[in-house]
Amino acid sequence: MKNMKVFLLSLLCICSLRAEPPFWGTIFIDPDIIKPSDPSAYLSLKDSGQGRRTMYDRRENNWVILNPYLFNATYKDGLKIEVQVNPEFGNADDARKEAEKYAYVIGQLTTALRRDVETVWIHKGTNPFGGGNNNLLIHTGQAVKYINDGILEETFEHEATHTSLDSRHAKKAKWIAAQNADGEFISNYAKDYPNREDLAESYLPYFAIRYRPDRISKSLTKKIKQTIPNRIKYFDSLALDMYPVIKREAPRLNQLFYSEEKQLLTISWNSQVGAKYIIQSSSDFSVWKTVMFHLIADTGLSSVGFKWDRKVNTQEYYRVGLE
Ligand SMILES: [Zn+2]
Repeated sequence: MKNMKVFLLSLLCICSLRAEPPFWGTIFIDPDIIKPSDPSAYLSLKDSGQGRRTMYDRRENNWVILNPYLFNATYKDGLKIEVQVNPEFGNADDARKEAEKYAYVIGQLTTALRRDVETVWIHKGTNPFGGGNNNLLIHTGQAVKYINDGILEETFEHEATHTSLDSRHAKKAKWIAAQNADGEFISNYAKDYPNREDLAESYLPYFAIRYRPDRISKSLTKKIKQTIPNRIKYFDSLALDMYPVIKREAPRLNQLFYSEEKQLLTISWNSQVGAKYIIQSSSDFSVWKTVMFHLIADTGLSSVGFKWDRKVNTQEYYRVGLE
């Protein structure tokens, strides 16, 4: 009987070790996933006077009706955001400075994350940021803390995932299947709120390993890949518009090499890390057929080889493009 108890105890121990997430929260895992010097899609800001708006204020833990300073921010991908600055900032000039500062950082988010952001609320106070409601909620006292820790951009990425990806994916059967298949959570925060926080907690680490692998440590990459492999596959399967992280420019061909002996054609091109590529072929420049697709670049130089018989394919042209 005594032996039995020991056996059960050690089993329990193994179980709890397996289920413990590697991080408490993912906005803190690395401050350089997005850097202040990274490109922004931000274009301009236009004053739009003041107007009555309903905003959420975490200091009140409630909705408030105010007469905020209004600014229309425009982005290079055509998206627009109305920035609403609490009148407590005193005058339009000071309000504009706040609006400009955050409109730029929000422009560092991809089109996919900004697409449902219609408004931004800016208040004073040291309260957590928020996402959802087609909005991003900012408290400037808290922003100072995030800036000091280098995680302002990472926090926006988390919050904008709530705004633009939650409604599209959090309840999808394939996402839930991925959560179940992984059987673990990337953070305690995700584990405690699996329906509300898991997608936002998982997306930033995914973004880091896929688009900024050279900025995070090998051990961090390994932990992320080991903990949420199925969620990573889920994100990979989406056609997310990654501008301005991935620039919309045609890839430059680096080398075309044919091995007569192996009957193998190898194409290499200068790639953007994380971007998805497609290879097509044509014999007449009019009808193009897809040879390979969904080739995700993990370095700045990608290459693929495929069987090719010079005697059969006497004249064949190839092109590489962004998917
Ligand atoms: Zn969240």
